[in-house]
Amino acid sequence: METEISSISKELLQRSINAEKLRYCYGCGTCTASCPVAKVIPENFNPRGLLQKIFFDLSKTLTEDELWLCAWCYTCYERCPQELKTTEIFLLTRNLAVERGYFPRQPTALIKQILRSGRTLEITPARDKRRIALGLPEIGETVSEQALKEIKTITEKSETWRVRE
Ligand code: SF4
Ligand code: SF4
Repeated sequence: METEISSISKELLQRSINAEKLRYCYGCGTCTASCPVAKVIPENFNPRGLLQKIFFDLSKTLTEDELWLCAWCYTCYERCPQELKTTEIFLLTRNLAVERGYFPRQPTALIKQILRSGRTLEITPARDKRRIALGLPEIGETVSEQALKEIKTITEKSETWRVRE
């Protein structure tokens, strides 16, 4: 069943991505040349290339890790001479990927950890023992029950539950 979120994403994506708009991109490369992520990992991320992939082979691009490397700094969005909404397109495409069940491994593990303990870092009994030995207070394996309940509510409302499976 299509959720409210998925229909909103699709509508926005269709508005942002269409063949007519792609013709406006004349491959000047300003987006890639301005991108801080592409500067650090040019072999893995290229916004101009990613935009082309989204337009020409959306289904395949939804499964690719490159989609998750944009840091949302909006530099390309600001500088594109053709005013293509690059950052928004990347964001909407990510939404669509999640709706189709594609989610990169690392954030999935992190979300599972947060759902389990309320923390991004696992605090094992051994870690607590080391803390005690250093004269530091125990942290415990999870945050408070109340905090976990709130995290669960946020997770369900935001549909993050999709990555639990
Ligand atoms: S800056 Fe805009 S016009 Fe230039 S390559 Fe990137 S998307 Fe295309
Ligand atoms: S918004 Fe993303 S793709 Fe654009 S310049 Fe910033 S990190 Fe690069």
